[in-house]
Amino acid sequence: MLEEQIKVLEVLEELDHKIDKIKSEQAIYPAEIKKLEKSLHEEQAKITEQQNVINELTVPKKEIENELAVDREHVSKMSQRLNEMKTNETYQAALKEIANFRKTIEEKEGKLLLLMEQIEEATKTLEARQKVIDEQQKLIEEKGKLASTRQKELGGELTTYQKNRDIELGKLDREIGRKYEFIRSRLHGSAVAKIEAGACQACHMRLPPQLLIQLQRGDKIHNCPSCKRIIILPTMSGHSQAVHQ
Ligand SMILES: [Zn+2]
Repeated sequence: MLEEQIKVLEVLEELDHKIDKIKSEQAIYPAEIKKLEKSLHEEQAKITEQQNVINELTVPKKEIENELAVDREHVSKMSQRLNEMKTNETYQAALKEIANFRKTIEEKEGKLLLLMEQIEEATKTLEARQKVIDEQQKLIEEKGKLASTRQKELGGELTTYQKNRDIELGKLDREIGRKYEFIRSRLHGSAVAKIEAGACQACHMRLPPQLLIQLQRGDKIHNCPSCKRIIILPTMSGHSQAVHQ
């Protein structure tokens, strides 16, 4: 009975539609996580960059600190030796040298302070970036858990639908079944199209009147001349109930 076959085709279509939907949802999760991971890697690269900025500031800071230690030691020794100066001339010269050194020390302290401020600022930025990374990692972990739960659900549904699909396909005449599978694989979607007001609802092509008459006879499977889908009239099966597990 062609009517029975068409009912089966409609059920098959619905099942395949559900299977497609599940498959496309299944593909979303890995893509979503991949995107988040990409953004995480970008943030991690920024952290490395920021670490380099801090390192570059720390090197001159240490140099200045070492120099300052030496300079201060020198001034302290010279101050102690002031009393040993025999003449006013050498005493004045020593005083001048001490004053010069103190000026240099002051300048270096100014530079050191600036470097310390820059390091502090850079460290704050680093910490803020680290916080972003921590949040992103947490988000990836949470999304991963949710995705894995949903994937399990989807996997279960898919198995059921595929089982039902095999059952429905088995009810079709071999030739019709083969045609259905072929069209689906070619079009990556619906293989069956309803005809309404004389037009294919999939590609909106108007059917030749002759074909419409043949279709109304309901004794044979016909295809849309334009999109090649199996065409059916809404009256041919009388129903299109959803199939549940
Ligand atoms: Zn068509």
